Amino acid sequence: MKSTFDTLLIHGGMTTDPHTGAVNRPIYQTSTYAQNALGEHLGYEYSRTKNPTRDGIESLIAECEGGKFGFAFASGMAAIGCVLSLFKSGDCIIISQNVYGGTFRILDKVFSNFNISYKIVDTTNISALESEITKEVKAILIESPANPLLNVTPLAQVSELCKKKGIISIVDNTFMTPYLQKPLALGIDIVLHSATKYLGGHSDLIAGLVVVNDSALAERIGFLQNSIGGILAPFDSFLLIRGMKTLGLRMQRHCENALFLAEHLSQHQAIKRVYYPGLASDLGYKIQSTQARAGGGMLSFELKDNYDYRIFFKSTSIIALAESLGGVESLLCHPASMTHASIPKNIRQSMGITDNLIRLSVGIEYAQDLLDDINQAIKSSKI
Ligand SMILES: *Cc1c(COP(=O)(O)O)cnc(C)c1O
Repeated sequence: MKSTFDTLLIHGGMTTDPHTGAVNRPIYQTSTYAQNALGEHLGYEYSRTKNPTRDGIESLIAECEGGKFGFAFASGMAAIGCVLSLFKSGDCIIISQNVYGGTFRILDKVFSNFNISYKIVDTTNISALESEITKEVKAILIESPANPLLNVTPLAQVSELCKKKGIISIVDNTFMTPYLQKPLALGIDIVLHSATKYLGGHSDLIAGLVVVNDSALAERIGFLQNSIGGILAPFDSFLLIRGMKTLGLRMQRHCENALFLAEHLSQHQAIKRVYYPGLASDLGYKIQSTQARAGGGMLSFELKDNYDYRIFFKSTSIIALAESLGGVESLLCHPASMTHASIPKNIRQSMGITDNLIRLSVGIEYAQDLLDDINQAIKSSKI
């Protein structure tokens, strides 16, 4: 029987334990497995290679993304590092502007040592992107919407372009989750996640996931996962399965709250501009509507010059200032000094990342409480 997405979240990845009937997948806290005879075992030999609890999350994310093969890692960066290990000396990878800072860093400071280079391109502009695909370019890695201005890249057009050029398309789907956006269905080759964010959903776990459809690609990624060894532990696999059961409910609420705040903040006299791809007036809205179910739970806004962002950040009482996103609690971030601090100020400002830009990961609290908290913090920050 073909399940709808919300049902899949509860029943995907085989949840009932065949030995006991336990409705949750047990935590198989074991490193190794007894073999009956030489070369005769029950499919498990050693837990870096394969573990039944990890199998659960790997099949669940594969089903949710509409893919055939899933892989679970100890962090989003371990997942990204493994995917980038597909490439070799001389290869170049195009990344979209404003990819996650850790993705930029691993390319700039780690893979560069192995002569794998990168190019930063505005992937929202497909013809500009096409002209950047030289013969060294072997892949395009995209985040859509991308942090912190939530720029939207047309994924179907990118996958079409990659197919035409014979290169690999990769989407970091952390901000959307498969509840809102399914890149494989748009022809993308590799989807990856920091499951630390919305998939885990409770700010209590670090994890990463990769999903593909192609069996040859899956074989290479599985080989790298086992060879490099950055796998997700059994207990963390269990936590992630548990977190994902409520993904549908949470995402619905994240999106409702974010739209409510975006609508109110865009009318606010203290705010210059709101960035949220679920808002009809947003630059990315049209494309976002064709490839995702809603705008997501992330938004950014820019205070007018007569407001002091330092005081704003000190003045919220419910919403905390913290790194990370995608948890049930709302979190604020200051891109200019936190996520995008490594970019020189003049470049940062020309990109739109001003000192007065504030990023909000909208949680699942009562929306009016969040709005009240932001409003009183804005009031306090007036110069
Ligand atoms: C957090 C994040 C990562 C890195 O994931 P970790 O789980 O922190 O290693 C990668 N991509 C995006 C978009 C992220 O937000």
